[in-house]
Amino acid sequence: MTFNRRDFVTTSSFALAGVALARVPLVGQAGQKAPPPTTFTDIRRNVGFFTGQGGTIGWLANPEGAVAVDAQFPATAKACVEGLQKRSAKGIRLLINTHYHGDHTGGNSAFRPVVKQIVQQERCAKLHRETTTKNADQQAYADVTFGESWSQDVGDEKMWGYYYGPGHTGGDAVIVFERANVVHMGDLMFNRVHPRVDGPSGASMKNWISILERVAKQHGDATFIFGHAKAGAPVTGPAKELLYLRDYLTAALQFVQKGIAAKQPKEEIAKATELPGFAEHASSGSVLTLAGVLNSAYDELTR
Ligand SMILES: [Zn+2]
Repeated sequence: MTFNRRDFVTTSSFALAGVALARVPLVGQAGQKAPPPTTFTDIRRNVGFFTGQGGTIGWLANPEGAVAVDAQFPATAKACVEGLQKRSAKGIRLLINTHYHGDHTGGNSAFRPVVKQIVQQERCAKLHRETTTKNADQQAYADVTFGESWSQDVGDEKMWGYYYGPGHTGGDAVIVFERANVVHMGDLMFNRVHPRVDGPSGASMKNWISILERVAKQHGDATFIFGHAKAGAPVTGPAKELLYLRDYLTAALQFVQKGIAAKQPKEEIAKATELPGFAEHASSGSVLTLAGVLNSAYDELTR
């Protein structure tokens, strides 16, 4: 089996599971692979988050129906589907994907038979299709797409999806539960772990910085759900965490700009072991590394 670059990147996103992977017992008593442990956590007003393996899932479950934001991988998506079905007698109405990466859309197939609609921003939908042509039969694609924004009422909750331009990928949506005042950032938020900047899909660190600033300003008192966090760090938090990642991305761009001005080659700049001022950021797997961020910053600053 051959892999092109996109396939490699998508496959490697298994490594994004980071925290969750570390807790997974590899082999059960009977020699079978044990399913990864999963957890439902309430935030407020029927909204909460689900952790298993892959990007954090946000959920709503009220008497009029349930909604999932992101789907992880099939193994844990199944547990999420079953849990949400128990939490709302009317079943799961919607699945929304924040972006196309496999650790957020791989589990769509577990939701497909039970949800009325799968919603994606249109660039996310395009990237999801383009990067999964070899295993399209294992995917579940969007039936509803939106450009700038999307909204739907589910019982007494009002949900919104917003597109602020390229960030972590070329197509990331921010999903808002208006009345609960909870905002799912998808992978526009990595807490204390080096983020992935998916250049080939159209990511932009400069615009990502502006997104974090705008969203933090617009939803100053909200609780935010983060796509990923380093081991032991929370996957939810306040607006100030968005500004912390903004500062990290700004520092990374400045660090690389300095290197370019000093005529340092890309490989030399990417050898840095620490971003000054952000020593507590951890790596996870081979994808979430400082070198990955610095290489992406270099590409963006020189293109
Ligand atoms: Zn991602």
